[in-house]
Amino acid sequence: MYYDYHIHTNFSEDSRMNIGQACMQAIEKNIVEIAVTDHLDIDYPDRDFEFTLDYAAYSTALDRARKEFDGRLNIVKGLEIGLQPHILDECTAFLKDKDFQFVIASVHAVSGMDLYGEDFHREKNKQSSYTEYLQELLACIKEFKSFNVVGHIDLIRRYGNYSDRTMKCSDFGDLLDLIFMELIATGRGLEINTSGFRYNLDSTLPDFDLLKRYRELGGEILTIGSDAHTTYHLGEFFPYAHQLAKKAGFKYLTRFPAGKPEFIRI
Ligand SMILES: [Zn+2]
Ligand SMILES: [Zn+2]
Repeated sequence: MYYDYHIHTNFSEDSRMNIGQACMQAIEKNIVEIAVTDHLDIDYPDRDFEFTLDYAAYSTALDRARKEFDGRLNIVKGLEIGLQPHILDECTAFLKDKDFQFVIASVHAVSGMDLYGEDFHREKNKQSSYTEYLQELLACIKEFKSFNVVGHIDLIRRYGNYSDRTMKCSDFGDLLDLIFMELIATGRGLEINTSGFRYNLDSTLPDFDLLKRYRELGGEILTIGSDAHTTYHLGEFFPYAHQLAKKAGFKYLTRFPAGKPEFIRI
């Protein structure tokens, strides 16, 4: 039985999967609960994309799917919200009158630049680009707290042309500890995002070293998400992710069926 807590339907500009297709495929793949987490990325730097969210239409579509798949698949109304230091008040304002059960906070852009373009990586090495990314993430989550887990915490590893794209806690002083402690102290957590395998990383985001450290510091909130934008990727590498979580010391995964964390034994 699997819980896929990171899925994009065609309410995200970069996905064509409709909610019905996602639900049917999830059931096929032995997934009992999905959190649909479409994008809201306010002031996203790459103007080719507009990651806005038509909340009313989205909410209606999810409510309809809930009824249609009732008893076969549980559907959680979620959001992946992109954080940047200058838009945090707008993020808070957006969430104020919405009824999301689950919110992923992600940093997709740093210092006003998207991470996959060349601009961000220019005149940086691996250490400096990874550090700048982590520092901005820390600044954002200290100020903005209306979310449940950080999405793909080491997303920066997907980008940049480095032969070694690993991230080890020991390479960044106490920066990762500060991020983990901030999350733990405020009842928030991490996800294991299995999309890393689709980006030639040969690992999940994050990988073992970060997960183990988060657990050592007392981290308990942990979801698993495929970040699927197509039905093919739903629930992908979940058996692997379960084993990895266990190896890192977790006995439970977290679900948010009604907005509050509930724990499922792995
Ligand atoms: Zn993301
Ligand atoms: Zn995503």
